[in-house]
Amino acid sequence: MSEPKGAWNFVRGFENLSLCDWPGRTSCIIFLGGCNLRCPTCHNFQLAWDMHSLPVIDAQRVRAYLRDRAGWLDGVTISGGEPTTVPGVGELAFEIRKTGLPVKMDSNGMRPEVVAELLQEKLVDTFAVDVKGPFAKYPSLTGNAVSEIAARANLTRIFEMAEARPDAFYFRITQVPGLTRADIAVAQSYLPPRHELKIQKYVPPRRTPEHAKPNHEERRPAGNVVN
Ligand code: SF4
Repeated sequence: MSEPKGAWNFVRGFENLSLCDWPGRTSCIIFLGGCNLRCPTCHNFQLAWDMHSLPVIDAQRVRAYLRDRAGWLDGVTISGGEPTTVPGVGELAFEIRKTGLPVKMDSNGMRPEVVAELLQEKLVDTFAVDVKGPFAKYPSLTGNAVSEIAARANLTRIFEMAEARPDAFYFRITQVPGLTRADIAVAQSYLPPRHELKIQKYVPPRRTPEHAKPNHEERRPAGNVVN
């Protein structure tokens, strides 16, 4: 296998078929390593904080799959980690779009400028944005990766985009420990009209001892800090 280029080098997971990830569609999921947050409740911690411990997925295999299965897949999800932190993610989305399949991207919403560019260039059809909770709780919910001010500023930009393009966004929240019903109601109140906050059940991650601490500074990918 030759050395993958650009965002393909970040592809550390691939799921052939998901019936539930993109509501109403069958999709495959490409998982990109690296994340700008350090959520203590993270499920994909190895992918998010230590992607080099996972093998690169063969780009040719994924390309062949997309080519052969494009007829019966309804779309491709690009997930993570946090895809908007990956250099060249636009080129990856462009390559997928050339198969004729629509693209959904999962995001924590903390890089709104990247979201805006991908949307403007028509490289991503739908963003599934996680709202972690009330802005004031972002420091504790993200392993101190995001301040309240940064959370408010970044998500406000995302909500503005969603108001202008309601078809291109939907929002989710995970009911992690410590998040109350009142917190979820506060998060719901941030959303623009015609949007709902989909509540996801929290399942505790099984974490290996070496990944027990979510905010290992040495695992933080360079240039990904948002606050
Ligand atoms: S945003 Fe948080 S939960 Fe999502 S991948 Fe990054 S660290 Fe994990």
